[in-house]
Amino acid sequence: MIPNFPAGATIGAIHASCVHMGRFVSVAKSAPNIYGMRTDPANRFGLMADAFANTALEGTITGDELIECHTALPIFGSLLTPESRALWKAAQLAGDTNAWMRYFPPNTSGNIFAETPRMCSSCVDEDVARFGVPYWRVQHQLSWVASCHDHGQALHDRCEECGAPFPHGLKMLIPGSSCVACKSTRTRPLEAVTPSSGRTALEGVLARAFRSQAPELAPEVRVHLLREAFAGKDAAAIVKRFMAFWRAKGMTGLERTLGCAIPQKGLTRLIASGAGQVPVAVLLSLVTFAALEVGEKGVAKAIDLAREQEARLLRADADTRHSDVLSEALAAQARALSMPPEVVELLLRDDLSGAYILVGGLNVASMVDRLPAQHRSAFRFALRSQG
Ligand SMILES: [Zn+2]
Ligand SMILES: [Zn+2]
Repeated sequence: MIPNFPAGATIGAIHASCVHMGRFVSVAKSAPNIYGMRTDPANRFGLMADAFANTALEGTITGDELIECHTALPIFGSLLTPESRALWKAAQLAGDTNAWMRYFPPNTSGNIFAETPRMCSSCVDEDVARFGVPYWRVQHQLSWVASCHDHGQALHDRCEECGAPFPHGLKMLIPGSSCVACKSTRTRPLEAVTPSSGRTALEGVLARAFRSQAPELAPEVRVHLLREAFAGKDAAAIVKRFMAFWRAKGMTGLERTLGCAIPQKGLTRLIASGAGQVPVAVLLSLVTFAALEVGEKGVAKAIDLAREQEARLLRADADTRHSDVLSEALAAQARALSMPPEVVELLLRDDLSGAYILVGGLNVASMVDRLPAQHRSAFRFALRSQG
């Protein structure tokens, strides 16, 4: 029997549900048959989703639908250009195991997924009533998400009786299973989840990003949005308000809340210029904060500005094509450094700031630096003549 499952259920949970329904003996034993290779059972970005859809689910859903509704790719992909997102998805479907690293929003870092699986007990109850089996949700597994967007309550990650964390990896069970250590079915919420407008707003943005409806996160748009909200203002005062937004006491409090180290320089740069090296949780929450600061009109303006810029670049592109030799040299560098191919596109369009946003300034600089001398000077001249 092919299981029914809710939108947002993880591929790992759907796999576990197949086991629960007797379709497979175990996740570990069926994985090699499904994927033909060793795959992380959680499969959070949809590696070889076509294979899973065709084999485990007998084509009742497509690999594309699986990636779009049951993996974290739509959330992180919303931070990329549409071209980059499409390339990422294609690489995942093709089974490129390094694709998640190559396409993951390049100027970000930090923990992405919590090691211990998390669940919302109301989601579990609803799933049992609707599908007979409960499912883990993609959004709940992000390390900096601590409550359920649908039910507004803290997520659970361990046994209430003995405190044992939910098992992960190949040992992962379906949510709501009895504790492997003491057999209790009572579970405990994450500790110290402070409700705040930051938490509520970020969870809302993530839920929209998951449905590809968060245009404010796209690289070109968020640069305009951050400028609109913060340009010319005192960065220290903005950081203070940002902390209040999260009800966090000081920088360490904010780091604890977002579950990552926050580089002061990166944060200040992000506020001042729209492009700074920060963990992905910080980038997402600062953009969320900026969107609330400028309101709907401000967000719409940032989207318009990004569209105008795009149109201008397309016009300029027709006039100023560099030699194919330079493009080949750049492409070779991009390949050597495992950069997404669209970085080359941006550089050829002289969109240095776009390339900076995509891969970070240092990487772009190192790429230009590695060009053969004659190309390097041609490139720098071309940049200068563009102003
Ligand atoms: Zn819930
Ligand atoms: Zn227990």
